[in-house]
Amino acid sequence: MGDNPALVEAAQAGSVIPVYILDDVNAAEWAMGGASRWWLHHSLSALNQSLQGRLLLLKGDALTLLPALARQVNASQVVWNRCYEPWRVQRDKQLKEILQQQGTPARSFNGSLLWEPWQVLKEDQTPYKVFTPYFRRGCIKAAAPALPLPVPSRLDCMDIEAMSAMNLLPLTGEAGINALDLLPHIAWDGGLQQRWQIGEQAAKQRLARFLDNGIRGYKEGRNFPARENVSGLSPHLHFGEISPRQIWHEALSAGLSGGFENDLDCFQSELGWREFSYALLYHNPSLPRRAIQSRFEHFPWLKRPPALRAWQGGETGIPLVDAGMRELWQTGYMHNRVRMVVGSFLVKNLLTHWHDGEDWFWDCLVDADLASNSASWQWIAGCGADAAPYFRVFNAVTQSEKFDEEGEYLRRYLPELAKLPNKYIHAPFLAPDHVLRAAGVSLDSNYPRPVVDLKLSREQALAAFKSLTPGLDS
Ligand SMILES: Cc1cc2nc3c(=O)[nH]c(=O)nc-3n(C[C@H](O)[C@H](O)[C@H](O)COP(=O)(O)OP(=O)(O)OC[C@H]3O[C@@H](n4cnc5c(N)ncnc54)[C@H](O)[C@@H]3O)c2cc1C
Repeated sequence: MGDNPALVEAAQAGSVIPVYILDDVNAAEWAMGGASRWWLHHSLSALNQSLQGRLLLLKGDALTLLPALARQVNASQVVWNRCYEPWRVQRDKQLKEILQQQGTPARSFNGSLLWEPWQVLKEDQTPYKVFTPYFRRGCIKAAAPALPLPVPSRLDCMDIEAMSAMNLLPLTGEAGINALDLLPHIAWDGGLQQRWQIGEQAAKQRLARFLDNGIRGYKEGRNFPARENVSGLSPHLHFGEISPRQIWHEALSAGLSGGFENDLDCFQSELGWREFSYALLYHNPSLPRRAIQSRFEHFPWLKRPPALRAWQGGETGIPLVDAGMRELWQTGYMHNRVRMVVGSFLVKNLLTHWHDGEDWFWDCLVDADLASNSASWQWIAGCGADAAPYFRVFNAVTQSEKFDEEGEYLRRYLPELAKLPNKYIHAPFLAPDHVLRAAGVSLDSNYPRPVVDLKLSREQALAAFKSLTPGLDS
């Protein structure tokens, strides 16, 4: 409830009805995936507790539900914090019109970005396409992020019983949250429950822990998946349990007093990548489905269902890829370095369309976010703005040797390889038979052989890319 400008506005105006609408109707293709729904259930539960059971839950088309509610309670105004997914921008614009036509003033606020996408433009008033000038010149130099707002000192929530009397069919409190039917029907969420504490308090604690321990050494440490140097704040940010302004300013004061300015600068620039992703999505509403570099629309992607299934299940035979995909499946999260490696493997070594990776992440990530997910997949596929060039193919084995030298991350998610010596754990398919036998590894039996040859598939990827841009010299 901290740094929530819409709530501050509503609390000042009088009695409030806090309402959440699960709107799969307007979300259509981009309705939340399974892991996000799991998070949302617990996040709403925590919010409802903070509101002493007064949260109202609705499910369906916000364009009809919200105006009807406003009419029934004779609301003096409707306020919300802005979202930036293209379907929400379009819907909320319509919503404002409908509400205003029926005589209910409606206003939206910025509760989730440091800089509004339409305010950060180049001198010629067009959007930035390159991150560094966007962030350094367009954002930081132009305006410091605003200070976060405090939790309203007084919040007078309207009596739910009174609303029942109005025939609103209110879905309130825990029963209402359960009625949204967000939890899985078969229990695949054990690993997620173990990994995450959800809600505003948990987000604050996670930030405090990160500022006490993780941020020191972040610049280098953030590359190593077994280290505790990343914040793990992405799902809390996505669901609005903590705001980027709160994180920015708390990190700033910790960094200035702690003497780790370089780590702080790097951390803030990662928050900047989040902002850049939102700006890209805002200015390119087709970002989730259409490559920014249009020549990639003709890329000769392959359809390889068995290889895609092996990638999804963490069964490719390339340990770092498999560990990452299993981390994702078990915990709903994957370390950023590993996201880049598994992404590169899918689109380059397997020549599979980035949409397939984007869709799987959408379903499995607890931090699935339309802006960051589509911008990052375009980055990894080399077809986005300021993207990694297509011809730069991550070698998953070299990356593993460099960033998980001791195999700690690999052993965490691939217990069947745990007894392999460090020399071979990054590429068991290169290990001599007696080493495999001694470690209890049997290729094709308890761990697969690689689904592709890394060197050969890299050359095929480069050839495919050259077919797209004749004469390109890699
Ligand atoms: C293929 C691919 C898909 C991705 N999909 C998502 C997604 O759906 N949702 C999502 O939030 N992030 C996504 N990312 C970005 C990044 O991997 C995560 O934000 C990061 O791993 C979250 O972990 P953290 O909170 O510990 O990050 P930290 O290192 O602690 O960073 C702090 C915050 O900065 C932001 N951030 C960091 N790196 C990036 C980045 N590269 N792009 C955008 N924002 C960033 C996040 O909000 C993060 O919480 C994706 C990256 C790749 C390569």
